[in-house]
Amino acid sequence: MVQRIIERGEIESLDHTALPRLLLPETAATVFTTRATRLRDLADGKVAGIAFNPAMSGYLEFIREVALAQAEIAKSLSNVDLAMPDQQSLNLALDHMMPPLAAQLKRPEIWRTILYQLIDQLADKSKPERAELNVVLTGLRELNDTDLEDQANAVLAQRHEDVNPAQAPFIAAALQVLWTARASRLKQQQVPMLETFTLCPVCGSHPVASLIRIGGQSQGYRYLQCGMCASQWHMVRVKCASCEQNGKISYQGLDRIDAPEPAAAPVNKANDPRKYVRAETCGDCHCYTKIFNQEHDYNAEPFADDLASLTLDILVSEAGYTRGNINPLLWFGETE
Ligand SMILES: [Zn+2]
Ligand SMILES: [Zn+2]
Repeated sequence: MVQRIIERGEIESLDHTALPRLLLPETAATVFTTRATRLRDLADGKVAGIAFNPAMSGYLEFIREVALAQAEIAKSLSNVDLAMPDQQSLNLALDHMMPPLAAQLKRPEIWRTILYQLIDQLADKSKPERAELNVVLTGLRELNDTDLEDQANAVLAQRHEDVNPAQAPFIAAALQVLWTARASRLKQQQVPMLETFTLCPVCGSHPVASLIRIGGQSQGYRYLQCGMCASQWHMVRVKCASCEQNGKISYQGLDRIDAPEPAAAPVNKANDPRKYVRAETCGDCHCYTKIFNQEHDYNAEPFADDLASLTLDILVSEAGYTRGNINPLLWFGETE
């Protein structure tokens, strides 16, 4: 491991007890390959904390292919492609407490090239069962730049009514590649705290789910994970990730009937698959956000695990709650 030599002046400014408020992605390729590995485990039913649904396997396997393609494309991006903001823009974002890589503002055009690369990698005419997919991909390829930018805006803002639910996952996947790569090039001190905790401080997008982390200074703290750039930012526990109220929060789990009982007496309460995923529901706005607890599964990957735990969404929606934030790779035709 290469360790950075700390300059003299930096030592005094280090606070060893400080909670990291922001965890930026290491590299985009790492994010997507880790996600792909997790998706394989989920597709194979190897994740004890998430009820295995054989009907989901094919879908999760396909999203794994998307993640592998994303990793491949991310590796090919150059510094020029990433079009990182200059010092002046970074300062401006800091001064105004704005996300430095706001995805809703003017986007580097390369994201559309990434989309075409993604389409090329996924279009496989030799597979007859892919006929529907190829129709969707062909339709995407035929959109002009204006339509694509409009779709990107709708996807980022989660404007359900303006999104083509079949095309949106691929638009989101292309945006994820570029924004995850860009976020990995930032330093924490270049990212301001926003006034709201409900949007990503790096790119201004919506969180996809949250994670209680273990290890180091983040032990036991809850982070929201961005659905676009994969950055994680700290948000106190027992607080709604949609409306930031904390008065009517409750939790709903998904007890997997065939989950093995935890070995031995519960001296150490960790590694209990039944406690791995919970929906945090809010009685104020009637929304919910999932919380994955790394204490019960070290390999937690909120984005993939969110897709695979659809059963919990069904349970919680039957109880009258709606998702606070959409998973950008999964859109339904209707919200209700
Ligand atoms: Zn983000
Ligand atoms: Zn709420």
